[in-house]
Amino acid sequence: MSAILPGATVGVLGSGQLGRMFAIAARRMGYRVHTFSPDSDTPTGQVADKEYGHAYEDLDAVREFARGVSVVTFEFENVPAGAVEAAAALAPVRPSGAVLYTTQHRLREKTFLSARGFPVAPFRHVTAPEGLRAALEEVGLPAVLKTAGFGYDGKGQTRIDSAADASTAFGALGGREGVVEAFVDFEREVSVVAARGREGEFAHYGVVENTHSRHILDLSVAPARVEDTTARAAVQIARAVLEELDVVGVMCVEFFLTREGRLLVNELAPRPHNSGHFTFDACVTSQFEQQLRAVCGLPLGSTELLRPAAMANLLGDLWRVGEPDWGAALRFPEVKLHLYGKTEARPARKMGHLTALAPTPEEAARVALAARDALTRRAGG
Ligand code: AMP
Repeated sequence: MSAILPGATVGVLGSGQLGRMFAIAARRMGYRVHTFSPDSDTPTGQVADKEYGHAYEDLDAVREFARGVSVVTFEFENVPAGAVEAAAALAPVRPSGAVLYTTQHRLREKTFLSARGFPVAPFRHVTAPEGLRAALEEVGLPAVLKTAGFGYDGKGQTRIDSAADASTAFGALGGREGVVEAFVDFEREVSVVAARGREGEFAHYGVVENTHSRHILDLSVAPARVEDTTARAAVQIARAVLEELDVVGVMCVEFFLTREGRLLVNELAPRPHNSGHFTFDACVTSQFEQQLRAVCGLPLGSTELLRPAAMANLLGDLWRVGEPDWGAALRFPEVKLHLYGKTEARPARKMGHLTALAPTPEEAARVALAARDALTRRAGG
């Protein structure tokens, strides 16, 4: 299998910020990038060579897109299977549709993980309120009910504290199937972003520590402040997951670290991940360049962390009282500003992020948060 070399065109299904940063990395290495999604003037489209704005169900348009590229990858895993199949008939799709199929559906993903012996919180499939009550007896309380299918950033999640909440919680699914799982009283959340090449080569970015706010990632700090044995175990699990799924590309494995020091896999993402954004500024090879290398069959690059780093997300809420004061954040010389080119700043929408580099992870976190605070601190306010 020959490599897909610079000068070739790479196709990206999806058009958000992950595709944008992938496109920046790809264009820097002399590739052309085409992006496909139902939207126009997208974060990815703004930096791609060509933007296709069609529904994923428009298979003729998907075929035209696939004919124009040497390889297709994703930045968004909830692409319908039909679109992936149509593309795969005309160009290699990496990671494969099978990886997508497993990871775009919470129930299939959890079933895959537990069947292969990976540690996960106890869970049950639920399709009716009575079933939910029975499942709660098995997984215990408190519990979290989530939609079995599509859902991200905590959308479609309800915490259940008592059996009496079962009917209301089930109603919140709006007729969709659900997965109920034990609520994990975690000590912290961590993730491993890793890459696997066509010949099974493996690279990883170590363990990153993540803090969420309203179920949305707020802050990532690298390296995570965890025991070496925990870090090694997390990487070993991530490697085994990528191998079992035969991933070619980048994947993120998110974990809960329990108070007893156990790692439980929470979620898989078959693409670069928000918790790996720091790699853009802080590693020899970013997760986006690594995805490009993996899907093009090139050697993987060094994942070395040049300095401890922290990444703080910038959500649309920051715009509530007007345009953030970018100059105030940029006064921190070791902070890098990333904005995704989104014109509408809705609450909870990921608009950009800040990365801070520092001598220690603690200092990086402090600086990233201080720079973010400075964005909305008005003179005299
Ligand atoms: P998810 O979309 O499933 O990754 O959930 C988003 C966030 O909600 C997680 O990163 C956790 O902070 C929280 N969360 C989800 N499931 C659980 C759980 N079973 N126990 C505790 N917290 C959870």
